[in-house]
Amino acid sequence: MTKAPVFTTMIKSIRWRLALASVSVWAVILVASAAAVYSWAEHQLRAQLDRGLISCLQVVGQSLTHEVQEHGSPAAGEKQIADLLVTLHQQSFPRQAVAVFQDARLVAKKKGDSDLTLDPVAPPVAPGGLQFASRVIGRTPARVAIRRLQEEGIRYTVVAAEPEANLELALTSLRSALLLLVSLAILLSVGVGYALARGALRPVIHMAEAVDRIHAGNLSQRIESPNPGDELGHLGAVFNRLLSRLDRSFEQEKQFMADASHELRTPLSVSLLAAQVALDRPRSGEEYREALSTIRNQLERLARLVRNLLTLARSDAGGFQLQGSLCRLDELVLEAVHTGSVLARPKEIRLRIGDLPEAQVSADPELLRQVIVILLDNAVKYSPSCTTVNISLREVAGSCELDVQDQGCGIPRAAQTRIFDRFFRVEQSRSRTTGGTVAGEGAGLGLPIAQLIVRAHEGTLTLVESSTAGSTFRVRLPLATPTFQRPNAERSKPVRVS
Ligand code: ADP
Repeated sequence: MTKAPVFTTMIKSIRWRLALASVSVWAVILVASAAAVYSWAEHQLRAQLDRGLISCLQVVGQSLTHEVQEHGSPAAGEKQIADLLVTLHQQSFPRQAVAVFQDARLVAKKKGDSDLTLDPVAPPVAPGGLQFASRVIGRTPARVAIRRLQEEGIRYTVVAAEPEANLELALTSLRSALLLLVSLAILLSVGVGYALARGALRPVIHMAEAVDRIHAGNLSQRIESPNPGDELGHLGAVFNRLLSRLDRSFEQEKQFMADASHELRTPLSVSLLAAQVALDRPRSGEEYREALSTIRNQLERLARLVRNLLTLARSDAGGFQLQGSLCRLDELVLEAVHTGSVLARPKEIRLRIGDLPEAQVSADPELLRQVIVILLDNAVKYSPSCTTVNISLREVAGSCELDVQDQGCGIPRAAQTRIFDRFFRVEQSRSRTTGGTVAGEGAGLGLPIAQLIVRAHEGTLTLVESSTAGSTFRVRLPLATPTFQRPNAERSKPVRVS
């Protein structure tokens, strides 16, 4: 593998990115600290060097003053100081080279460490007391201190110098030590940072592996997070909730497919059987008509089923495409009741319209009419002959409520929460014995479709009550304009279908 891909892989890895980020921070801190330590040490070493030179100048200066005063004549004092420099002062200040000038004349001098020898020429001295400078003497970089003295009216200049080699040596050693320490610390922080990041991210890798193992066949599996209380635990819980939702909808999808196939198979099998029986042997014209009629009924049922399945599939794929407009719900009720009266006629059921005030809603009239027909169809389908179905409309706090109340067999309490589920029927056989109407034999899709339509209109469809005395379904829709008028006396008459 070449270097570039390795580096790219490292940069892509969160572990490495975290480690490198922490190393960068540590590197800045360490380098800044090392620089601070180095400059402090350099300052201390230079100050120490200068202090040594100052004390050397002080001692030599005091000796000069003393000798000049002691011996009465400058010449005698100067001779004495020349002797002192190479004896006593050589011992006291072995490292420093010293020279004493009287104006430009060299009075006395001594060598320092590494044979540092000062020039016999008096350095230019600026006015003032003590002066320091860094100079190269011979080939040796040195620190030089100069002091002026006035004794018996005679001007002396005392010069002391010390090689900077020791200081440089100490600084070089310090630089090497700091470089080594900083490098080791950075390497250590790379290792520690990587190990910490790896440890922190290990649960993520385990979770990713666990998620990777989940497929359509084992959606019930869940991810385990080592510590449910931390951020990764939270992530795991979020994943698990997502899996639960997926699992549920996958199960529903499977159930839907199974139910749909079952419902589609029945009319197909019946049609096939009717055709086979009719073609079995030569039949009379009446028998062929009967067979064809059965086949037509089953095909109609099949077409209705396919239409309903399509409606549900479209709704699932993104809701209904509402052809929304302002329409009168009371007028839609009248139209739907007209359709329903045809359904109710065979069972001599009365469709009675109660209060029916003018109610304007923003809706798709076709879809709303479908909802009312589904409710009327069910009311007729599940009611005994010669009973009454009441339909009424009223305004409630900016909404309108449409009630469809029948005197039918009712819905058992246990089934009441499930009647809006797709393909749910209280009794598989009941719809057949009570007689098919608009939907023929029920497939358990009427109420789910009605509910989807009402929800798409931001309304609700509920079963208000149900007992052996009958059931009441209620559609609640937001009013477009809350302008209700008194019920029309003519409309409140019962529609008798017989
Ligand atoms: P179906 O096409 O079977 O009528 P629905 O979804 O419209 O399907 O209704 C689901 C089930 O709810 C029906 O099979 C029936 O058992 C029950 N049901 C619906 N409306 C009524 C009603 N008015 N009275 C009694 N049972 C009802």
